[in-house]
Amino acid sequence: MEAEAGLKVVDGFGLEPDLRALLRPGQVVEDKQGRGHRLPRYFYEVPTPEAAADIRLTPHFGLNEFLLVDLKEARTRGASFRSTSRNIPCAVRVLAFYLERLREVIGAPVQLAVNGGYRSPAHKLALGTSPHMWATAADLFRVGSTVLRDQTSIETYNRVVEEISDDIWVMPYGHELGHADDHIHLDLGYLNVVPREIGEDAMEAPQAKPRFAFEERRSGDRRGWPKTPDFTQLTLDPRSKE
Ligand SMILES: [Zn+2]
Repeated sequence: MEAEAGLKVVDGFGLEPDLRALLRPGQVVEDKQGRGHRLPRYFYEVPTPEAAADIRLTPHFGLNEFLLVDLKEARTRGASFRSTSRNIPCAVRVLAFYLERLREVIGAPVQLAVNGGYRSPAHKLALGTSPHMWATAADLFRVGSTVLRDQTSIETYNRVVEEISDDIWVMPYGHELGHADDHIHLDLGYLNVVPREIGEDAMEAPQAKPRFAFEERRSGDRRGWPKTPDFTQLTLDPRSKE
């Protein structure tokens, strides 16, 4: 018996030239610090806006929530927006997983802002390199019944988001560039996902000189952790006979 077909994964290198020019798969773009990041190469192809509404990534997040405004614009603006909104980087599934986890921890719905999900490199709001172009960033405007537009609510929930995982970065509260004062921005960085169903070829040429960088310290600094787990310290369930 054949497995039921899931989402279609496309290699951006195989897209039509005009669409490829908009999505720029595999191209290296620089962030504000001058660090290069390779744009996503593998995308989920969404056949229609209606289909996007039906595709669930997790129990509470549909694919359409990450594409919402692109799809609305697609109806009024014509073909080029329609075609960019049909493809979303595969990392969106990982983002949805973390948002689902956040929803679970908070115990209330977590709502994305308008334009708060994926922004293709051609999107008017994708000015400058941001993880939104990887579909690994979300802007939240509401959590439960709390609208996130003051320092207390943003900083309170920023702490909750940070506690979920060291993989997540949240934008600090503030009015300057690189800060947020009317939403929560969270992201997983420049994460490229290659679904297990697709094969890869040799895209990378050998580097002229080795590159390295040091990570910023994470909140859960692991240096003090034991090298090998000590299972003798575990409390065993007395009902277990094994
Ligand atoms: Zn953002």
